[in-house]
Amino acid sequence: MVAPLAIHPSSRTGSGPRDAFGRRMNYLRISLTDRCNFRCLYCMPAIGMKFQPRDEMLTDEELIRVVGLCAELGFTKLRLTGGEPTIRPHLVDLVRAMKAFPGIEELSMTTNALLLGRMAPDLKQAGLDRVNISIDTLDPVRFKAMTRGGRFDLVWQGIEAAEAAGMTPVKLNSVVVRGQNDHEVAEMARLTIERDWQVRFLEIMPMEGVGMVYDEGLVTSEETQRRLESTFGPLDPVAADPSDPARTWRIPGARGTIGFISPISAPFCESCNRVRLTADGNLRLCLLRPDEVNLRDMIRAGASDAEMLNRIRGGVWRKPWGHRVAEGDRDTIRGMSQIGG
Ligand code: SAM
Ligand code: SF4
Repeated sequence: MVAPLAIHPSSRTGSGPRDAFGRRMNYLRISLTDRCNFRCLYCMPAIGMKFQPRDEMLTDEELIRVVGLCAELGFTKLRLTGGEPTIRPHLVDLVRAMKAFPGIEELSMTTNALLLGRMAPDLKQAGLDRVNISIDTLDPVRFKAMTRGGRFDLVWQGIEAAEAAGMTPVKLNSVVVRGQNDHEVAEMARLTIERDWQVRFLEIMPMEGVGMVYDEGLVTSEETQRRLESTFGPLDPVAADPSDPARTWRIPGARGTIGFISPISAPFCESCNRVRLTADGNLRLCLLRPDEVNLRDMIRAGASDAEMLNRIRGGVWRKPWGHRVAEGDRDTIRGMSQIGG
């Protein structure tokens, strides 16, 4: 384990349970399903992807109960993810129920946007504030290859529908993979010149099933930034919320911004304020560490709310510090779509 140096002052303040290092957790990322209508090459293996049996997943009632308990503990931000959250049945009802808990200030979703064209207005109306949309390339042929079958035109319609429904600011996530889309980062960044969007470049992580893609494909944020600056000149730094993992920049004169998310080359553990709920009902304390707290079995064994609250509080207290992925430690990492990216 990496030794904690100091936590960011922003992590000490606000609501939510504290971990043993003094960081407050107020942000819950919820994987609604481990299934997906794409097979992105950095997220799932080409063959042999295993999905969990449906009876191991949290039911709607179980999920809403856990979210309500987290709201009671002081969590204020929720993000729906997966797998692909838009394929979860009853999504609009889930959004409405989650947003109704007192204390939930922001509800957002990370999605591939394939189905967003038709779902955006209902989701917005139910209380979904914002979306982050994953799009790694603007070339429809490459898009199809990187997602193993995805339709670029429908995803683009989804982005426009999200913006039209008022789910702003629109943020686009692009995982940079050497030999796939690394030569296109300037084209992605160029979107921010005319649009008030944030284009975020993510370093690939070695999740289960995609270790080889990581080994061959990692492009550090520093390298991506160098590429952008060779096209646009020096980027201007932009002040951002300290708990946002993205370091934010702007092409001089652009309306939108560029973010770099660097879990490998510059981990952001000192300002981490988040834990995850896996689709099978485990509180996952760190994306890149194996520590989990099983909530599903406890619910199904008839635990009271007081017992559940204690389990969640105790789990957060044991949240680990840091990972050693850059040093080669990756034995215990589950698939991204199971944990919820
Ligand atoms: N299906 C939705 C989507 O793609 O936006 C939500 C789930 S996806 C797992 C969440 C985010 O994780 C996406 O932005 C995706 O690009 C990112 N992601 C998936 N695998 C990754 C990996 N190995 N390294 C870094 N980011 C990854
Ligand atoms: Fe599906 Fe998202 Fe993973 Fe792509 S990154 S396979 S869209 S879960």
